[in-house]
Amino acid sequence: MSDVHTKVALVSGGSRGIGRATVLRLARDGFDVAFCHQSSPDAARALEAEAAGLDGGRVVGRQTDVRDADAVRDLVAFTENRLGPIDVAVVSAGIARDNPLLLMKDEEWRGVMEVNLDGTYHICRSVVFGMMKRKSGCIINISSVAGVHGHAAQSNYAASKAGIIGFTKSLAKEVGRYGIRANVVAPGFVETDMTAALSESVRKEAEQSIPLRRFGRPEEVADMVAYLVGAEYVTGAVFQVDGGIVI
Ligand code: NAP
Repeated sequence: MSDVHTKVALVSGGSRGIGRATVLRLARDGFDVAFCHQSSPDAARALEAEAAGLDGGRVVGRQTDVRDADAVRDLVAFTENRLGPIDVAVVSAGIARDNPLLLMKDEEWRGVMEVNLDGTYHICRSVVFGMMKRKSGCIINISSVAGVHGHAAQSNYAASKAGIIGFTKSLAKEVGRYGIRANVVAPGFVETDMTAALSESVRKEAEQSIPLRRFGRPEEVADMVAYLVGAEYVTGAVFQVDGGIVI
């Protein structure tokens, strides 16, 4: 019997946008991939079907609300039962609920914290023990340039994304001795549903502030994820994928 095991990745928020592109990229790179979504069963089934047509790894989706610690534990158990031990975890599930601080509603503050920051904690907490036992693992958390540099009307979002950076750097220091790496990808503006609601004028202004003069594609963020998966001597780092918006 061969002892070569197909590597396994878990991607949160895999049904759409950056998570979806990451699922497809890792599957193409030969990973078996499990992903979760909150409320997009049709998008999840479509992604499974698209992945099945590739010459790559298996792809399975599961509804899981990352705000729910027990559900995330079930997701990890489901992934390990269906595909095997998790080698790579990518936390992409995230939301934005923008408002100037003066107008910020408590539920907008808490909602963003619960999905972006609690969700990251739940996924990482649930995968890290298995990685420690195996003395190997790669965690990639998706933050944002807003978490590095701030952004007006995004104090909730930027706080959650800055929290992800502090969390990930601490984790990198904590588990490096077990052969586990933890890094952050901080995208700028990327063409997904999250930015689709921007008005034409905001979009034009944003494009003018980007040296490359365009929004990024989800696949270009997935390229960075794929790089980090293979970057064996990189941990605790923050990689911006932002067309140069912050130089
Ligand atoms: P998106 O297209 O809106 O997709 C969000 C994904 O997160 C979906 O798969 C969604 O699942 C999932 N999700 C949301 N809440 C969830 C929950 N409670 N439990 C489980 N899954 C949940 O977003 P995106 O633009 O790809 O963003 C992906 C990540 O990149 C986010 O963390 C975002 O903050 C970050 N980011 C994005 C940009 C950008 O310009 N797009 C820039 C910087 C950082 P459903 O389909 O079921 O709703």
